[in-house]
Amino acid sequence: MTQAGSNRRPSNLFYQSGTRRPPVDRAEGIYIWDQYGGRRIDGSSGAMVVNIGHSNPYVLDAMKRQMDKATFAYRLHYENDPAEDLATKLCEKAGAGFERVFFVSGGSEATESCLKLARQYALATGQASRFKVISRFPSYHGCTLGALAITGYAALAAPFAPMMHEMPKIPAPTAYLDRDSLTMEERGIRYADMLEAEIRAQGPDTVLAFIMEPVGGASTGALVAPDSYYPRVREICSKYGVILIHDEVMSGAGRTGRFLGGDHWPGGRPDLIALSKGIGSGYCPLGAMLAPDWMVQPVLDKGGFLHGFTYAGNPLASAAGLAVLEVMEKEDLIGNAARMGEVIRDRLEGLKTRFPFIGDVRGKGLLLAAELVADPETMQPLPAHLNAYQRIVDIAYDKGLIIYSRRTRGGNEGDHFLVCPPMIITPAQVDEVMAIIEDSLDVLARELDL
Ligand code: PLP
Repeated sequence: MTQAGSNRRPSNLFYQSGTRRPPVDRAEGIYIWDQYGGRRIDGSSGAMVVNIGHSNPYVLDAMKRQMDKATFAYRLHYENDPAEDLATKLCEKAGAGFERVFFVSGGSEATESCLKLARQYALATGQASRFKVISRFPSYHGCTLGALAITGYAALAAPFAPMMHEMPKIPAPTAYLDRDSLTMEERGIRYADMLEAEIRAQGPDTVLAFIMEPVGGASTGALVAPDSYYPRVREICSKYGVILIHDEVMSGAGRTGRFLGGDHWPGGRPDLIALSKGIGSGYCPLGAMLAPDWMVQPVLDKGGFLHGFTYAGNPLASAAGLAVLEVMEKEDLIGNAARMGEVIRDRLEGLKTRFPFIGDVRGKGLLLAAELVADPETMQPLPAHLNAYQRIVDIAYDKGLIIYSRRTRGGNEGDHFLVCPPMIITPAQVDEVMAIIEDSLDVLARELDL
């Protein structure tokens, strides 16, 4: 694989860290090429964004047609058909209980919007004492200060703590780590009941909402709770009048093999949904909050929603999003995500024999993760100094596969890597991905003496 040359141009850009990668040239399907001719499989769909794959001609054509008409029309001056059509399509796909859509341009904006609509609903309905939003630890809901206040990721939040209102957190349902005599279903109830205990401890009339990722993203490594967790959480939220928010920024738009990650548990339906990433599939920045009429109408009746972003619902991003959803339907990509996800999951499970340091394989559809541990019996994490989560990414990158990884479990421990290719992946391409993963684990095992 060609590496970044030493003759790189100096950069005025900066991101989170100083690491540099080769400049991108072009991308098509599940592949990306750099300017040195290196081709890699996009095994993480960017950051779990490009659900329908790169450079889909149907989407590009829809965008070009919209570009020739109008790229931007401000919502206070004009309504636009692509935004209307996309809103209708999203409500159809979300199903009963979601009649209203509020567009934004990304995931943090989507979760922030949920918090603010929930708060304004409380104010509009005489529940001004409710403002606390309970979330889980670990979790990730975005990097703006509101979204960060509900994010369970200490290292990201700590420097900004004085600038945020501290929000209560309960443990994420890491039932796979528990070494007790309970069944998985009993553990699910136990974790859900932690929500009830927290609501009571905080004072139910102060609690506005509970937010969770139905299938976890990078912060937990595709954490899925036992089935019993979801309906029990719903029951508790209803009992205390707490608004249940599903953050589907990563798990939504078909990635888990259903349109919404939460669709795997019909008994756990939320009141608000935050969407982004896959609904725009990287063709345009796009996000949305899906809401019920009963929550939106009182807010509109009391003077309106005090919130909005300049680019929200712009015609170009909306046309892209609409075409993305049409491609998903026409090509049965959600079905393919379910099928290919099963295959990859089984293959990852199968690697446990050869690589006993794979402690857990989890996720749904094509939102999958493997956790690397020192001892699969005790699930003891690998020593942090080995940096296994970063090494596996770098090794695979050099072999032509992009994967995503994190340390997890809420503290600074527990390495996992995620396998989340575009939902168009074919069985032959799955073989290609798995061959590189196997090779990379082999190198990792030798390098770290695992
Ligand atoms: N929520 C979840 C579950 C996410 O995974 C992310 C991003 O990874 C966000 C929110 C924030 O999205 P964005 O980076 O588009 O602001």
